[in-house]
Amino acid sequence: MPFWDGPNPFGKKKPPVTLKLNKRRHKYDSVQAHLKNMLKGELLRVGDDANMREAVQLKEGVVLEEWLSMNVIEAHNTLLLIYGFICEDCTKETCPIMNAGNKYHYLWPNEKEGKAESLSAPVYIEKLFGWVASQIDDESVFATNGVYSKAFIPTVKKIVSRMFRVYAHIYYEHLDAIRSNNARQHLDKCFRLFYYFVDTFKLISEKELVPLQPLIDQLS
Ligand SMILES: [Zn+2]
Repeated sequence: MPFWDGPNPFGKKKPPVTLKLNKRRHKYDSVQAHLKNMLKGELLRVGDDANMREAVQLKEGVVLEEWLSMNVIEAHNTLLLIYGFICEDCTKETCPIMNAGNKYHYLWPNEKEGKAESLSAPVYIEKLFGWVASQIDDESVFATNGVYSKAFIPTVKKIVSRMFRVYAHIYYEHLDAIRSNNARQHLDKCFRLFYYFVDTFKLISEKELVPLQPLIDQLS
């Protein structure tokens, strides 16, 4: 379960069965489990809003890669629950392209064919979650022995940059569903934590953040 305690604030709706929360790391890796509890404790201590920025800071004595790793897994699990909340409204018919409003159209990099392709939002997002899960489960990237390769930070940047696109799609295309269920404040809280994390460690380029800049300006 992500950073909140108690029931899922996004209700009982579930993400598609093909997508799963990553529990393996926290279950088997005591360092990660400890850091997750540390983050939860910090979030409780600082409360909401701008103080959440403090909670994501690297703590004394904690290895940077371990901290990033835990935060990325938490961000993945959180985003999956949010997506589960709106996925019934995000279909090939309602969202034939992966977009954020009229100005931003995201293409999926088809690595086999070496070119980017336009996919419907649900197909794009499922591919994205599947790809993120495969990275998290890859020992050569998300090490469990504490020895991180050079590929780790660039992969983390790629993961959070792609996850940001799902937030952008939800904010532009699915706010009605979110509003009608009073989940807006939970969505904002999750995005706030995500943004403070990526901003603190400079993980997403300014160019990539542009679609949600008005929202980000309200947070800062
Ligand atoms: Zn959609």
